[in-house]
Amino acid sequence: MSRRRDFFKTLASIPVVGSLIPASLASAAPAGRNFLKELGVPPIINGAGVYTMFTGSLMLPEVVDAIRQMSTEFVRIDELHDRVGERIAEMLGAESAMVSSGAFGAMQLGTAACITGDDLEKIKRIPDIRGMKNEVVVQKSHWFPYNHAIRNCGVNLIEVETAEQIEAAIHGRTALLLFLNKAEREGKVGMQEFIDIGKKHKVPTMNDIAADVPPVENLTRSLKMGFDLIAVSGGKGMRGPQSSGLLYGRRDLIKAARMNTLPNSDTMGRGLKVTKEEIVAVMVALENYLKRDHKADWAEWERRVKTMSDAVAKVRGVKAEPFLPEIANEVPHVRISWDQSVVKIKPDDVKQRLRDGSPSIEVIPGDGYVPDTLEIASWMLKPGDAAIVGRRIFEELSKAV
Ligand SMILES: *Cc1c(COP(=O)(O)O)cnc(C)c1O
Repeated sequence: MSRRRDFFKTLASIPVVGSLIPASLASAAPAGRNFLKELGVPPIINGAGVYTMFTGSLMLPEVVDAIRQMSTEFVRIDELHDRVGERIAEMLGAESAMVSSGAFGAMQLGTAACITGDDLEKIKRIPDIRGMKNEVVVQKSHWFPYNHAIRNCGVNLIEVETAEQIEAAIHGRTALLLFLNKAEREGKVGMQEFIDIGKKHKVPTMNDIAADVPPVENLTRSLKMGFDLIAVSGGKGMRGPQSSGLLYGRRDLIKAARMNTLPNSDTMGRGLKVTKEEIVAVMVALENYLKRDHKADWAEWERRVKTMSDAVAKVRGVKAEPFLPEIANEVPHVRISWDQSVVKIKPDDVKQRLRDGSPSIEVIPGDGYVPDTLEIASWMLKPGDAAIVGRRIFEELSKAV
């Protein structure tokens, strides 16, 4: 993929640039109360990336402005939902769209829509789906914990491997064929073949692309290929509210998904409420995301990778290499590894010391992409953070030599 080649090529040619804005300025506390101080919850430097446990991404000022403005008026929520849905659909080239509570909420409502259609009796009964469509077919390699959103609708997930098995699994009670975008290369059935099977048997197909922007093209690529529904997070790469998401695709299904949630009280999705502030804020985040200078973002992320690499590579026996995760969080990262007979500390212990230090720093948790290494995502760092992270890792590693 040329994007990956370019990443490694440009990285070699980037001059060393220090942090552009001093950390003290970048993290200046707003006037008035300092809530984190008051509550005793320390802020962290986020070198992990977009993780719900680390509060996702940071909203841009225009997104926060939208929240502030919307918080001062009452509206008829359905009217707002309709108009914003139309705008979002137009921006993405979809028939229809709606704001949801995260990609999780999008998947749950999308599944409900495939089960109930616009039948009010069914909408009131779900997740008691006796006598209704009750199965969702998914490739084994596309199994993921977030499919609990689908199971919340009371359906059984039918796991299959081949195209023949998908076709054999489809019957009159099949609600949906579910695809996990980031597992595309792991499954035996590719995207186009999967979509075609759905069309042949008239069963809707849904693609979960939650964390797969950037690249921005992913917002529209699989929609154009023919998926009936797409679910994406609003609070990851798009930098809308952490709790927001989008569901877009076929008009009749989006209409049914809307019927399965607020303001309707007797619905499975009533708890998946979105506020007027979130509805407008994620629209603004999407507008911004579509017209952003993605190349400039990328160049900044590469600079951060270089800043961190240069800082730690000064320690003998330490190697810093740039890497790009394939699909999902596909942005510049750095992986730091070392000869543990020379630098006598384990990566997990360094992670703990970074966490316990001041400022507190999180890098990719758990085993990450390659176990027994330190991996850092560049895109959720604030200006100046890369230099701090590089310095802190340098300190801990050089102490262990
Ligand atoms: C993050 C994620 C979700 C959930 O998205 P939210 O916007 O947090 O609800 C679903 N699927 C995948 C693959 C994800 O990465």
